[in-house]
Amino acid sequence: MSSQNNLEKVISELNSFNFKLIAVSKNHPVSSIQQIYQTGHLDFGENKVQELTEKAEQLPKDIRWHMIGHLQRNKVKYIAPFICLIHSVDSFKLLQEINKEALKNNRIIDCLLQIHIATEESKFGLSEIELFEILGSAELRLLKNIKLKGLMGMATNTDEETIVRSEFKGLKTLFEKCKVRFKGENVDFMELSIGMSSDYKIALEEGSTLIRIGTAIFGNRKY
Ligand SMILES: *Cc1c(COP(=O)(O)O)cnc(C)c1O
Repeated sequence: MSSQNNLEKVISELNSFNFKLIAVSKNHPVSSIQQIYQTGHLDFGENKVQELTEKAEQLPKDIRWHMIGHLQRNKVKYIAPFICLIHSVDSFKLLQEINKEALKNNRIIDCLLQIHIATEESKFGLSEIELFEILGSAELRLLKNIKLKGLMGMATNTDEETIVRSEFKGLKTLFEKCKVRFKGENVDFMELSIGMSSDYKIALEEGSTLIRIGTAIFGNRKY
């Protein structure tokens, strides 16, 4: 099946949920993105700054680019002029850097805080304590050029549905807690970014508002 057919299949299965789909195009060529863009789909995700900026230069300017991978502070400046949403904020220092670059570009950049929910050591993300530290800090109020819109997480890479589901449930609970407890000019929790090709159905059942789908649309990545 073509990637366009795959996209239609994924969308038709999901009509009952209120969510936005991000087509994760990492390791796929610009031509594959163009095929999906032609269907009217505008949200694409990448996990590396260089790949993201190279693709963005070659593609239509109305594409909404999502940064979903680990972001180094010294690379924020390259995406700050145009990035739609940064899903992977995992420190206050990174948030300060994003704010600085957003100010230079005279914009407000939407961000999600990435929470570590998986059992694997290797995955990036904040702990619950670190999350509350950031959301409760007085310095956060000074960052006028960012907006915290919610949380992102990646479940453990396992076939065991109960593990994945309970990790998503835990993040949803945390999200709801934050939503009522922390509100401010630059904090407005609306988005829960959970769900990838292998677990997006579970994620939607558990309250995802943003699913990040690569393989189920574009096929396997070649490295
Ligand atoms: C690659 C990636 C995805 C998409 O993964 P698939 O399994 O191909 O759908 C989603 N989120 C993040 C953070 C990724 O790096």
